Amino acid sequence: MQYISTRGGHRPVSAQEAILKGLAPDGGLYLPQELPSLSLSDLNRFTKLSYPERAASVLSLFLTDYTYEELLACASRAYGPASFPVQNPAPVSALTDRVSLLELYHGPTCAFKDFALQILPLLLGGALQKTGETRTAVILTATSGDTGKAALSGFADAAGTRIAVFYPEGGTSVIQRLQMTTQKGANVLVLAVKGNFDDAQNGVKAIFSDAALGERLSRQDFLLTSANSINWGRLAPQIAYYVSAYCDMAVSGRIAMGEPINVAVPTGNFGNILACYIAKLCGLPIGRLLCASNENDVLTEFLTTGVYNRNRPFHVTLSPSMDILISSNLERLLYLISGGDSEKVASSMRSLAEEGSYTIAGETLARIQDSFSAGSANDARTLAAIYDAWVRYGRLIDPHTAVALRVYQEFVQNTGDSAPTLIVSTASPFKFPASVLRALRQPVSGDDFANLDALSRYTRLRAPDSLSLLRGTAERFTGTVEKESMKDAIQEWLGA
Ligand SMILES: *Cc1c(COP(=O)(O)O)cnc(C)c1O
Repeated sequence: MQYISTRGGHRPVSAQEAILKGLAPDGGLYLPQELPSLSLSDLNRFTKLSYPERAASVLSLFLTDYTYEELLACASRAYGPASFPVQNPAPVSALTDRVSLLELYHGPTCAFKDFALQILPLLLGGALQKTGETRTAVILTATSGDTGKAALSGFADAAGTRIAVFYPEGGTSVIQRLQMTTQKGANVLVLAVKGNFDDAQNGVKAIFSDAALGERLSRQDFLLTSANSINWGRLAPQIAYYVSAYCDMAVSGRIAMGEPINVAVPTGNFGNILACYIAKLCGLPIGRLLCASNENDVLTEFLTTGVYNRNRPFHVTLSPSMDILISSNLERLLYLISGGDSEKVASSMRSLAEEGSYTIAGETLARIQDSFSAGSANDARTLAAIYDAWVRYGRLIDPHTAVALRVYQEFVQNTGDSAPTLIVSTASPFKFPASVLRALRQPVSGDDFANLDALSRYTRLRAPDSLSLLRGTAERFTGTVEKESMKDAIQEWLGA
């Protein structure tokens, strides 16, 4: 299977090349030239498989230049007991009769990004080897809080790679920051950017699109690539857990095989929900996709009116991993929905870069709305949803999941749609103990580890070891950088 750029300005490449490059040279994002199909008999067959086997089966539909055995070896390592200390890495549990939670926070960094970033280094390693690449892969990552640690955890001391992470100073939870700044490994750099996530992401994109810099680094045997969800190697593994969750719901009798489900996804960069949409396009029985945003509701406005406008105040919210105004993966949706109209995609993206906005017209918007609904929840409603989940259902959820729950509840009120629904639970509540305690109307301390303990005591739930053990670990990276100086920082770090 070949991959093309959403902006149409580049020749088709193999999956391995798409993974190595991250971003297409014309600034576009890679997508499969055509989508594979998933039949009910495939799904029936998958019900009998383990998670790594399901993941390898789904990946083999997309990453056709790896063998099934290679993909299974990668998936077995990435989703094995060393990283995911539960039987099923992506279990589905019941919230109510009709509503299930897809628990994606049992990995090493306690957020869903582990599903992509535990396996991406292995896929990238395979791609380096198979394409005869001898340069060192330099992975540049902008993070709103969770990608950074997940990427560090996957790439630290991985042979043939170096990894740099930029996070917005003051824009993450304390625990999220400590997860990154205490990272071990000889090939690692972590820097705080004086700006927000969009500034960090724009800085990374600017480094990628600097052709002269790319050439200079290449002469010094460095190959720049990305661990952000602009990389197809991050999207593909996320398709697998939707397929797996659907199989589990059918096996447990929560749905009949073939019955459509709705899926609610807490959304920032539009990567996770796009993976779900691709699963739907391939044939997974999914009805509506509910795109849930926090107060940074640029996507809610876009999906309901067709106007994407990033010229609006940026809010720091209780769900920091969704504090984003430029959702990169929307570009892939535009391409898919417009039937591959790369000129239209390129002109929308130009308008976004130059004016900060673009508009999608009638028919295209209608097609988007055939599949997507959208809503947003501010901090007060997020807190209410956490309280509600705990008091009514006995479930402790994190602020990102709470945004999705709240948006789902309002969707049901407004539409009466009672289809079985999967709410994607993207992070452990123990990553955000202060916010969760506040939601449960408990005292909050200025010390996040005291909050972690208090939350654990109050709920009688055990905090993940990977978070508790951060306590007292020395911060290794305390440097900050102006958003204009990210390129210099990278050159200095590489000695280039
Ligand atoms: C990254 C993240 C999101 C948003 O996912 P996107 O793929 O960027 O839309 C939601 N919740 C959590 C906990 C995250 O880390």
